[in-house]
Amino acid sequence: MKAAVTGGAGFIGSRLVEQLLKEHEVKIIDNLSSGLEENMPEEAEFIQHDIKEKGLESELEDVDVVFHFAANPKVNTFPGDREKDFDENLVGTKNVLEACEHADVDDVVFASSSVVYGEEAEIPTPENANMDPISMYGATKCGDEHMCEVYQQIFDIDMTIVRLANIVGGRNQKGVIYDFIHKLEDNPEKLTILGNGRQRKSYLHVEDTVNGILKAWESDKTTFNIGSEDSIDVDGIADIVADELGLEPEYKYTGGEKGWDGDVPEMRLSIEKLRSEGWKPERNSAESVRKTVQELLET
Ligand code: NAD
Repeated sequence: MKAAVTGGAGFIGSRLVEQLLKEHEVKIIDNLSSGLEENMPEEAEFIQHDIKEKGLESELEDVDVVFHFAANPKVNTFPGDREKDFDENLVGTKNVLEACEHADVDDVVFASSSVVYGEEAEIPTPENANMDPISMYGATKCGDEHMCEVYQQIFDIDMTIVRLANIVGGRNQKGVIYDFIHKLEDNPEKLTILGNGRQRKSYLHVEDTVNGILKAWESDKTTFNIGSEDSIDVDGIADIVADELGLEPEYKYTGGEKGWDGDVPEMRLSIEKLRSEGWKPERNSAESVRKTVQELLET
């Protein structure tokens, strides 16, 4: 079987490519806007293409399944880059789905996010909770999911949607863990924390994530949450980072319940649906965070 992975040079995509290569041929489609050439295994074919541009169908003609992971993944800024969210996530996804239809690819896996649920959802949040995004990034992921459903209904493309919690691991050059390490390397005495430190979310290591994505793909073509069974607050993350660096910094808070406008202060997904298919994360949130700090410090 041949798989194409959009965003295959990025953090999650490249780890997915490594796992897929054990059993399948893989073609990476990426514009290297945030992805890195060094993330891509030599055995994978690489097509440099920007999904905001049309013309992908000829590249998908020899492909059986598309894992669509390219996106503007930067969520933790306000007002955020709404143009970029719109173009990368909505225009890009429409172009990928259209190319799949023209190239007769009838199997697509789409990387969505926990942010589609917004801040009012019950905890842990099941897949049938309402979509109620509070950021442009979240709104575009909701729109993408709806587009996937339309292509499924009209063109009979099998769609697997994975709603990912906060995914962490050594190649992730963004997010709270990376940020804390760099702040503490600059100033080991003091750590500025966005919000009140009590925002509490589920963190999952990318190894568990990739296993979950592949399990979801092999299961019924439907929507699955992927996260850890528990959550950790921002202070807890700071404690782990400081501990791994052997530091005891003073914490300073910018204040407020959210780290930034558009931040969802509490997130934990129900993972029962994918668990019932036989997947189980090996690490909880604290273990995922600690392993990530160790991996980032090794590089
Ligand atoms: P990443 O930035 O590491 O990877 C994204 C990849 O897409 C990069 O290689 C980038 O070069 C590529 N890309 C971006 N725009 C493109 C374009 N127009 N054309 C072609 N390639 C393009 O991000 P990631 O963290 O690996 O995220 C992968 C996917 O998972 C994204 O869809 C993201 O929204 C989703 N997701 C990530 C997380 C997380 O915690 N990292 C959580 C939920 C959902």
